[in-house]
Amino acid sequence: MDHPDQTIWDGMLAHLRDHHPTLCRQWFAQITPIGVDGGAMLLRAESDVHRDYLRRECLDAFNDAARTATESLIAIRFLGPDDSFPSGNTEAPDARPETPGRVDANHDAPIEAGEPARDADHDSAREPSPVNDAERPSTPGRLIEAQPRQPRPVFSERGASDHDTLIINPDNGFENFVVGPGNRLAHAAAVAVAENPGYAYNPFFVHGDVGLGKTHLLQAICVSVRQARPEAVLHYVSCDTFINDFMLSVRGGQMSEFRHRFRDVDVLVIDDIHFLAERDRTQEEFFHTFNSLYQLNKQIVLSSDAPPEEIPHLEDRLVSRFKWGLVARVDPPGYETRIAILQSKARLRGLDMPSDVAAFVAGRIDTNIRELEGAVVQLQLAATVENQPISLDLARATFGDARGRTQRTPTIDEIVQGVCEHFEVRRTDLLGKRRHQSISLPRQVCMALARKHTRHSFEEIGASIGGRDHTTVMHACKAIESRTATDPDLESAVRTIERELLERAPRG
Ligand code: ADP
Ligand code: MG
Repeated sequence: MDHPDQTIWDGMLAHLRDHHPTLCRQWFAQITPIGVDGGAMLLRAESDVHRDYLRRECLDAFNDAARTATESLIAIRFLGPDDSFPSGNTEAPDARPETPGRVDANHDAPIEAGEPARDADHDSAREPSPVNDAERPSTPGRLIEAQPRQPRPVFSERGASDHDTLIINPDNGFENFVVGPGNRLAHAAAVAVAENPGYAYNPFFVHGDVGLGKTHLLQAICVSVRQARPEAVLHYVSCDTFINDFMLSVRGGQMSEFRHRFRDVDVLVIDDIHFLAERDRTQEEFFHTFNSLYQLNKQIVLSSDAPPEEIPHLEDRLVSRFKWGLVARVDPPGYETRIAILQSKARLRGLDMPSDVAAFVAGRIDTNIRELEGAVVQLQLAATVENQPISLDLARATFGDARGRTQRTPTIDEIVQGVCEHFEVRRTDLLGKRRHQSISLPRQVCMALARKHTRHSFEEIGASIGGRDHTTVMHACKAIESRTATDPDLESAVRTIERELLERAPRG
């Protein structure tokens, strides 16, 4: 087997930085090129989580870089730390028969226990052509048919159809989670669960608004358990996957396989469990799944956009079970935490973000953390285009300052988000039925702003804000108009929210 020249690898990294800048991560430096074999370049990732992420998210870009750097139709194969590589061309991966019951690696293959030498990434090495790309999307239900009955996987991201949520992002480890007052409890509990699954807090239920780090914490638990206990069977899925998998299994008469997948595990992690709302049969099945795991001290980790008791139409017996362990809420980050998060995100991408830039961005974006990350990417792209380092001037030019910003029309959803953040109320409350003044005032502000800044009718606004009728919206608009005339605090609050909404850089 030939060893790839260091200059080729350096050339590939440079190509990735130039042509796929937002894909690049600092940890790419830990990837080791180990050889070229039968038209495939083998790259060793530092962990299986990194390998799986690279296969799923980065294969096209790496193929592109390899082909440019070598000027040949070479294909990339990513290996994990323990994956063996074929020795010599006689063992070329395409010559091997598919192992029965195996799903190819690009489809989140369940990996069989005790398998001595896993050959990785069948597809990518098969042919140095775009065949990889064509093969990646898979038919829903395919994994169900291909589920191995025996033996059990060492670790799997087993699931039926919702592939997107199954891959763990290696960026989402505990080491990259910035702790602040809003998430301290949730973080501490997640660490405890990862260290002692089944015994620390069971279930562990984390909830909060969108973009505040729930999925990050869930994935951090997965990464951590996987490192510390490679023998543990961990099943990490979205609630949608649970629902789809259940429905397909009922239809296909494959309930025993379904139960094996969800009950014969050491750790079950389900993201966005609030999607169980109003799904009676799935709730029933989940109830039994929960009991079965709980009785055996198997860890259950759940996330949701609302606390258990506020998930609409969730059976009482599930609500009470979700509260048996620890329920932790994540709140929006304060200014200092936002600065730290921006710097952490920049570091991950190998970017140098001066502190005045971080402070500027943190002052401008106080919505969810996903938007902070979006700002880092925007700055990175601007720096690439302008061919200059990230600086305060560049940040000003990218996000505009108060004077230079262009106005835009906000959506009702953005208005709800902006109002919730300003008044520090939860979206579920604002859209819900509570009539307390602390909720009803922000709700009225939402309605008035929606009327003023969008072209929606009173009916449409009422429907979007918790299903209220048009007279309620009309009343709210009048009430806010007269109250802002006499209440300078409210008037200033409304103006601040408006400014934020109208001047916020357009998404895209
Ligand atoms: P949620 O699941 O609550 O909607 P995510 O976990 O997807 O939110 O978080 C959105 C983005 O913000 C992700 O990129 C995540 O890494 C990042 N993020 C959230 N909280 C933190 C934190 N405390 N430190 C660093 N990054 C964070
Ligand atoms: Mg999430």
